[in-house]
Amino acid sequence: MAAPDLTPAAFTESVFHYAVEQSAIAISITDAEARILYVNPAFCAITGYAPQEVVGQKQSLLSYKSTPREVYQAMWAALTSGRAWTGRLLNRRRDGSPYVAELTVTPVVSPGADADEIHYLGMHWDATEEHRLAQQLANHKHLVESVVSVAPVAVALLDGSGKVVLDNPAYKRVVAEMGVGEPAHAVLSALRDSLGEGFDQAVARRRPLLSQELRFDRAGGEPRWYACSLSWFEEHSTQPDAFYADAPNDYLLLVMHDISAAKRQHEALRLAAMRAMLSEGELNQSLREALSGAVFQLQGPVNLISAAAGLQRRRAGPAAAMDPLAKALSDAQRAGEEAIATLQAAMPPELPAVAGPVNLNEVLRDVLMIETDALLSAGVTVDWRPAHVLPSIHGDPTALRTLFRQLVANAIEAMNVRGWTERNLSIVTAPHGNQIEVELTDTGPGIPEALRLKVFEPFFSTKQTKTGARGVGLSLAQEIVSRHRGVLEFDPHHSGGCRLRVSFPGARALERALTETLG
Ligand code: FAD
Repeated sequence: MAAPDLTPAAFTESVFHYAVEQSAIAISITDAEARILYVNPAFCAITGYAPQEVVGQKQSLLSYKSTPREVYQAMWAALTSGRAWTGRLLNRRRDGSPYVAELTVTPVVSPGADADEIHYLGMHWDATEEHRLAQQLANHKHLVESVVSVAPVAVALLDGSGKVVLDNPAYKRVVAEMGVGEPAHAVLSALRDSLGEGFDQAVARRRPLLSQELRFDRAGGEPRWYACSLSWFEEHSTQPDAFYADAPNDYLLLVMHDISAAKRQHEALRLAAMRAMLSEGELNQSLREALSGAVFQLQGPVNLISAAAGLQRRRAGPAAAMDPLAKALSDAQRAGEEAIATLQAAMPPELPAVAGPVNLNEVLRDVLMIETDALLSAGVTVDWRPAHVLPSIHGDPTALRTLFRQLVANAIEAMNVRGWTERNLSIVTAPHGNQIEVELTDTGPGIPEALRLKVFEPFFSTKQTKTGARGVGLSLAQEIVSRHRGVLEFDPHHSGGCRLRVSFPGARALERALTETLG
């Protein structure tokens, strides 16, 4: 509503006047030569000049004289062709201090005036603080990027769909070295396998997982160990419609620290300790085998003697006590039984088994390292193809090592025959559902179909006894596999050698089965 003593036009004009006067933006109006005709109070507040000090002066009075010439040239090129210009200049206040001005200059031609009777409307605000924050942010970003790009750890950022949207050179090196499509995905599935529900809960609650050690095996290469950490990062939307209703995007930050060198050192120490333990175990085992063999060999004749003694006693009837043959047979039976008891008493006790989660890749690697000399001297080449990531099984690592040493030793022995040229042993590990499977294939003569069951019998050997074969290898292997709830079988369809498959329930599957059994 216009004031009663003003015409509507005069009222609007006065509103415009006050609006300009009270605007928080610095406003100046100049003539065509950029000579100042008017400035508002905000202009004075920002620049420190009083109106009378600037009216009649050129706008260049505000120039800090360090704005590049091209900026002014671009400004004037726009203005002289009748277009507005917006940009940032470095200005000087009355006290000499600089500030960043975000300026818009608009050519103003009054209706009815000649085209050359032009004025310019300048509006600017002090953008120093905004500039400082923007620069600080840019510096911070640059610093973070520099640190991440030279950091010795591999970093990958995954979006909600699991796509890697950002990575660093160290991660790219991991991609090249591991030869799997996306190492981040391999890490996530390995963590899921090893942590089970703990992983799902951490993901659901966005809880970080720190320094989880993972081992990655590579065909024909040293295994790599990484300490992997996961953390979550929330990105707030930059879209205007999310200003009051933000729905942040979740990103997963994966950091992989290569700890292979330290692990290798640790492995070397472990291997030395394991060799010492194995030789003690082997001594124990071979003593047990030799004594069991002797007991087994003795038991047959003793059984025969005991049957004969029984028969003779029955034949002699009441005079059995006086019968010299019955007495001799009873003495022989007693002596035989005593000999068996003595041998059994001399048998060293089995070493205590230590059960826990076992990675079969690790076990097989140990076995291959221990058997390196035997493989080399028999001229056997090994095709070692471990699964990149293999879930653990629950078991006794020493017994499992003995199992695979036995199977590898059998394969070497089968191929190490004079004149046999094809000498290759392939070992493949793979998870199949809840089962962990190891497949050993040699290029030896294979086992004839008729003997495939017999070879698992104790003290059965396809080799001549004079070679020293005790024939307990496969029965012992079978016993270890059964103790671990596994299955050991020959592939009946494989030709050109022997293919053995050993499979065990994965540790998690076994855990589930036990929980279900125990209710
Ligand atoms: P100038 O002598 O101005 O020359 C710079 C370039 O601009 C030259 O290429 C010249 O040919 C061209 N030029 C200059 N005047 C004209 C003109 N009238 N017509 C065509 N071309 C021309 N500058 C600031 O530094 N800070 C400000 O806050 C600021 N506010 C402004 C507000 C308005 C409304 C206007 C119209 C201009 C403003 N300017 C401002 C620009 C200012 O007028 C000067 O161009 C600038 O300060 C450079 O001054 P200078 O003496 O170094 O060079």
